[in-house]
Amino acid sequence: MNNSPSLPPLREVIKKHGLTANKALGQNFLLDTQLLSRIAAVPGDLNDARVFEVGPGPGGLTQALLQAGAIVTAVERDERCLPALAELGGHFPGKLDVINEDALKIDLAELFDAPFHIVSNLPYNVGSALLVKWLSSADWPPAWQSLTLMFQREVADRIVAKEGSGAYGRLSILAQWRCDVKIAMSVHRSAFTPPPKVMSAIVHLTPKAQPEGVDPDILARLTQSAFSQRRKMLRQSLKSLPGGLDALDHAGIDGARRPETVSVDEFVGLARFLTAEA
Ligand code: SAM
Repeated sequence: MNNSPSLPPLREVIKKHGLTANKALGQNFLLDTQLLSRIAAVPGDLNDARVFEVGPGPGGLTQALLQAGAIVTAVERDERCLPALAELGGHFPGKLDVINEDALKIDLAELFDAPFHIVSNLPYNVGSALLVKWLSSADWPPAWQSLTLMFQREVADRIVAKEGSGAYGRLSILAQWRCDVKIAMSVHRSAFTPPPKVMSAIVHLTPKAQPEGVDPDILARLTQSAFSQRRKMLRQSLKSLPGGLDALDHAGIDGARRPETVSVDEFVGLARFLTAEA
């Protein structure tokens, strides 16, 4: 634990640097240091661990990660935040590196040569895109050891949903075939400044052994087709996917079923057949 008693309160940091929230950048800041410490504790012991943070903003979560002993590389698109982050870095010499860039353009392999955790209060407009990118890594297990990510509650529910539930879909399958997933905590909208319209939750994902013989791109295309019209029967939605109907036959899955009734294991079986046929 690295405590720096002279750190100014986050509200002062925001005021000093004129960081009025920019809606287009998904800026809803967390200022409660106890909540931020609890989020920073979700990945486990971070002492001397490498952490990648998307969107540090005024630096609340960054500070909690640094206080937990992490060595943080953060990518922030809003250059107004850079002076505040430079001041924070001054309290933790050599422990904080900030890149002024769009996180979607970052190649993690270029940044890290050792395992790292990803922790972020994600900007909602790019959250799902970043998650899908991290889950689609060509190498598995990936270079990251865990993901601790804030999402709108509705997106968090989709990530952890089981078949048969209304929230179950493409995101559930892409997350669960390669990761153990859980909601680590719910976060009330009033915890943010300014408060968003909806509730949020922290999702924690850790990589697990990937089923053999499945091409991730094929699984992605399969789930895309299956859920493109979730009310349609599988035999309808998969008929334009090469080999789709054969895969259903081979797996013994009734083409009259709707995609939300098909388990992650069943989708993996379909993708394995399509991978072998490709
Ligand atoms: N980490 C801070 C906190 O918890 O209070 C801020 C979180 S705020 C929800 C999201 C942050 O992501 C903002 O600082 C915003 O400027 C930044 N951001 C938005 N889009 C981004 C992008 N494409 N790449 C990097 N940062 C982005």
